[in-house]
Amino acid sequence: MIENRNFYINGAWVPPVAGRDYHVIDPSTEEACAIISLGDQADTDAAVAAASAAFPAWAATDPATRADYVKAILAQYEARVEEMAEAISIEMGAPIDMARTSQAPCLPWHLENSLEAFKEIEWVRPLGPHAPNDRIALEPIGVVGLITPWNWPMNQVTLKVIPALLAGCTMVLKPSEESPLSSMLFAEFVHDAGVPAGVFNLVNGDGMGVGSQLSTHEDVAMISFTGSTRAGKAISVAAAATLKRVTLELGGKGANVIFADADEKAVKRGVIHCMSNSGQSCNAPTRMLVERSIYDQAVEIAAEVANNIAVGPASEPGRHIGPVVNKSQWTKIQEMIEVGINEGARLVAGGPGLPEGMNRGFFVRPTVFADVSNDMRIAQEEIFGPVLSIIPFDDEADAVRIANDTPYGLTNYVQSQDGAKRNRMALALRSGMVEMNGKGRAAGSPFGGVKMSGRAREGGVWGIEEFLEVKAISGWAAE
Ligand code: NAD
Repeated sequence: MIENRNFYINGAWVPPVAGRDYHVIDPSTEEACAIISLGDQADTDAAVAAASAAFPAWAATDPATRADYVKAILAQYEARVEEMAEAISIEMGAPIDMARTSQAPCLPWHLENSLEAFKEIEWVRPLGPHAPNDRIALEPIGVVGLITPWNWPMNQVTLKVIPALLAGCTMVLKPSEESPLSSMLFAEFVHDAGVPAGVFNLVNGDGMGVGSQLSTHEDVAMISFTGSTRAGKAISVAAAATLKRVTLELGGKGANVIFADADEKAVKRGVIHCMSNSGQSCNAPTRMLVERSIYDQAVEIAAEVANNIAVGPASEPGRHIGPVVNKSQWTKIQEMIEVGINEGARLVAGGPGLPEGMNRGFFVRPTVFADVSNDMRIAQEEIFGPVLSIIPFDDEADAVRIANDTPYGLTNYVQSQDGAKRNRMALALRSGMVEMNGKGRAAGSPFGGVKMSGRAREGGVWGIEEFLEVKAISGWAAE
């Protein structure tokens, strides 16, 4: 078993001042796979002090120098990619092949995209031709606290740490206590890349401890948070007294609108997308809205696809889905499946309990409900498990109405061969992102939501600008 109680503060691994042991559970076996320590105020203070001391020099570095450090982090990853995949797989249950092909590669993907976007940042630029002596300067906001969840651990860590480094900020990362191993390995990459002491710090901890200590800390200028809407609200309240910038990437309940003229793989693609990562993606298309003329057929296909999704341990190679992250998520998902049954939705695949032949591990049966009405709890609440709700609709206007009738607004999806209809839908849906006909968003596209999905944009130029302040200057001496 891995035992690493230390935190990475001021360029060195240091023991906690008064840490509490925390057992990281492998969700496939329900057994501890690591012991870490949860930090407390003194650890948070030490990390923030190190980041504050490092800020002036790091903020003053040439942007090209910061880009070189980031490239050096990529080289570390490339040498140790298998370790990263294994860390993610064991801590949060992603099947090892998926950890190798989807989870770990988020790091190089976002890192390279951020480097590309970084070239577009104009640090000092004229306001406009009408004002020859005005300049707009961009400056790093200061020390930032980065709080991340467990479901796509390296995705979220990279989307925060890399832009923050490039922007010239110094930082304290608090990864989820459920998935600290990948972040501790990432800290080794940062260290071995030679990033100056104090620029990047990592303190493990829980939300009530290190999470809220960062959110209330006087010397932290900004919190960048990804996680639940519940915690996003708590952080906003906690950060108010110090007027921090707070950027929030929260939950979702994406609609996948499938018109009668959709391509023939649309339903299958939607089910697989919903169940992928065991349903633990904030942008999962968990409400499948189907035009009534193809509804019965779509329900049949969806049930068949779900019944054919294999569930198995994370350590086994293959294309199955793994367990969900922990006991409390498993229990919550089971409760929501019961809620769906009691609300009168028609269960057409999966259901409560462990998959057949399994007696341990936090495994969930890929579950599909048909005849869901959008006011049911299973259509309104984020379940964060492999549970799909299918809802019929009559026409385009009905589809827009149902899709937008949700507290969330992260990603919506549209499937249709009619380009004009697709474009109308894309503009009518209230969400930060719309993906159509199975096309993923390109490199440099911003990720983020509206309403209860938060208001932040990560990735691309927007993801770097989140960490910058805008300074307006007049009387600038013309060169
Ligand atoms: P969570 O909110 O419980 O925890 C996320 C992180 O916040 C963890 O590091 C946790 O320790 C910390 N935290 C919890 N309470 C806190 C508090 N009061 N103050 C400060 N920090 C606190 O979420 P989770 O269960 O780890 O992750 C799942 C959630 O994340 C889902 O709702 C999912 O939709 C959301 N998510 C959103 C995005 C996005 O980009 N929109 C991406 C991935 C996950």
